[in-house]
Amino acid sequence: MTKIGFIGLGNMGLPMAKNLLKAGHQVKGFDLAEASREAARAAGAEIAQSIAEAARGVDVVVTMLPAGKHVRGVYLGGDGVIANADPGTLLIDSSTIDVESARDVAKAATEAGFDMVDAPVSGGVGGAEAGTLTFMAGGPDQAFQRAAPILDIMGGKIIHAGGPGNGEAAKICNNMLLAISMIGVSEAFVLARKLGVDDQVLFDISSTSSGRCWSLDTYCPVPGPVPASPANRGYQPGFAADMMLKDLRLAKDAAKSTGADTPLGLKSEDLYAKLSSDGHGGLDFSGIFKMLNGELR
Ligand code: NAD
Repeated sequence: MTKIGFIGLGNMGLPMAKNLLKAGHQVKGFDLAEASREAARAAGAEIAQSIAEAARGVDVVVTMLPAGKHVRGVYLGGDGVIANADPGTLLIDSSTIDVESARDVAKAATEAGFDMVDAPVSGGVGGAEAGTLTFMAGGPDQAFQRAAPILDIMGGKIIHAGGPGNGEAAKICNNMLLAISMIGVSEAFVLARKLGVDDQVLFDISSTSSGRCWSLDTYCPVPGPVPASPANRGYQPGFAADMMLKDLRLAKDAAKSTGADTPLGLKSEDLYAKLSSDGHGGLDFSGIFKMLNGELR
């Protein structure tokens, strides 16, 4: 049995912590929100009263927080994880954050003698509940080897993406690609309709031709061809457009700081920002089809 401090018990963190409990591990949880603390207590976790208390006396600390500023706040400073964890504690941050914050926090952890990995996920709340998340982990080999058995309980696939921050880097590159492909597929359906081609006909052709991709053949943004896709349930998420927008902004920042030229990533961010500012950020990200098709005016 491993003792795990779990900080950030929201939509993703709570079900992830529940899977650790189910696997027989001891979880000491902390969240700023009382409702989250109570939900974790009801699931069998011990509840800490502070970040420092959650970090002390455990073998592993897992964090699942909204953004880079929260991760910096939780790990750094006198009240943070790094100042309070016992020597030898393994640190795992699964939040989706900017690469720079991930690398800064990992550097501070390494300098203080801790093994740390950034291990963001894809798979959403459904994947967190089912324990089938994909983890993209960044950090030294030794830290990754220690983290893998813990990640394995919460996930179905664990990939070592390289050194510190590379988990975050891989995740935002993947999601930028996903946004671009979803917009591309949506535009193809918009044009095909204007040209008098049925959705199903375009699907049958493109899903077996050079245009095929996951956004088309598994997550089709028009109702009909893929019964399980969000298009068939009023575009309820799934993966919300606002979450995609967050990841596209992280990709934009990363492109700016590295000098990478990502014109389609930037255009995708514009389009998702419009979807969001028009009040539709809660739709699944495949709802971009409705905007491009003029259904949201
Ligand atoms: P959430 O807002 O539901 O949960 C975050 C939790 O962190 C909240 O309960 C909040 O109270 C807590 N928190 C914030 N600051 C804290 C602090 N200083 N100390 C303790 N607790 C604090 O968000 P979520 O949907 O669980 O997402 C968490 C992370 O996972 C995000 O980085 C998100 O981008 C990523 N992610 C989410 C999904 C998804 O579908 N929800 C999918 C993949 C990745």
